[in-house]
Amino acid sequence: MTDRTFFCTPNQMRGSSILLPEKRKPLLLMRKMEPVLARSEELLKEIHALVDRPIRLMVACGNQNRTLLKNYVRAKLPASLELVAGPGCSVCVMPAGHIDAFVKVASQPGVITAVCEDLLQVRGSKESLGSICAKGARVELINTPQEALDIARHEPDSTVVYVAAGFEATAPNVAETILCAAESGLENFCVIPSIRLLPPTIGRLMENEKLHIEGLLCSDSNNVVSDTDAYSHLARKYNLPCCIAGFTLEDVLEGILFLVRQVKAGTAEVSDDSAFSWSPLETNTALRIVSEVFCAVETDWRGLGTISRSGFVIRDELALFDATRRFNVHFTEGHENSKCQCNEIISGRSIPTDCPFFGMSCTPASPVGPCMISDEGICHSYFKYELQSP
Ligand code: SF4
Repeated sequence: MTDRTFFCTPNQMRGSSILLPEKRKPLLLMRKMEPVLARSEELLKEIHALVDRPIRLMVACGNQNRTLLKNYVRAKLPASLELVAGPGCSVCVMPAGHIDAFVKVASQPGVITAVCEDLLQVRGSKESLGSICAKGARVELINTPQEALDIARHEPDSTVVYVAAGFEATAPNVAETILCAAESGLENFCVIPSIRLLPPTIGRLMENEKLHIEGLLCSDSNNVVSDTDAYSHLARKYNLPCCIAGFTLEDVLEGILFLVRQVKAGTAEVSDDSAFSWSPLETNTALRIVSEVFCAVETDWRGLGTISRSGFVIRDELALFDATRRFNVHFTEGHENSKCQCNEIISGRSIPTDCPFFGMSCTPASPVGPCMISDEGICHSYFKYELQSP
């Protein structure tokens, strides 16, 4: 057994029993004790005082959108400040062709597929992991890749396939798990890599001038491998102020205020206020581990096409732990449900209430598309909070 310290993203921290370094804990406790509501009211006033013309911002992260909706603050923002969602929910941007590959591998005899719950219901061209599970495939729900590794240790006669879906912040933890499996000689463990990098995709969206996005808010759950240089490049190239912020209401409003100030001043700076930032040493270690295991390649995004250097593959030296090579499965184009407008919504071209199925034939109990399935999906958050808005 290795004594590795695994890297956790904010999301993984919530669902994981993995211990964090001691120095991160006080930060979490302090944040809970802050007088959030009073500060939020102040931030809203400052935003109102500044917005005197239509401004359109993209809130890329699904968690940050949920924070805004959950706290019913969208209605308290200036009417001329338009917030659109972006491609910052890993389940929502998963194309049908990737789901098809997961399904194909999960259907092989002797395979146990380990996957996060949000992905279970997302349909590929025909099936989802949930539907083939109902037909007898063995699918286990987990929160972290280490849980998949544990299943492999306890089930030596099966091949455990971990579906690595997420943004780059998940990459260090997945890479660490693959290295741990290699060191332990755990050859009945492998990974389907479907990890994404956000900045190249934001760049693709910004090529569309009709979107008129004047500022980008994203979160540290979308980040890690792309340091602020990646966002500085976006800021320079597209005159796009960018803010990387945390998940509390205060974090999100601070981020919006930063962006509005930039827009008003005609500047395009980058602010990194990550709530869960790592020390330079941790960051360097994470980047080294990621580059030891993965290399950046083009990958497909739902509704956005194939984007250069926006995904990862496992390096040849660790091919044994790559499920796509072990089972000779390729990511194909796939066929998405043409009724669903998730494509439009995750690229800031429309909002959930523009979709004729929203709240009618598409609800969290009976979702048509991935944006209604995932907790972080913008349609899900709109349905849960906007429809009940006081
Ligand atoms: Fe797709 Fe449903 Fe959202 Fe419409 S409401 S875009 S069908 S997930």
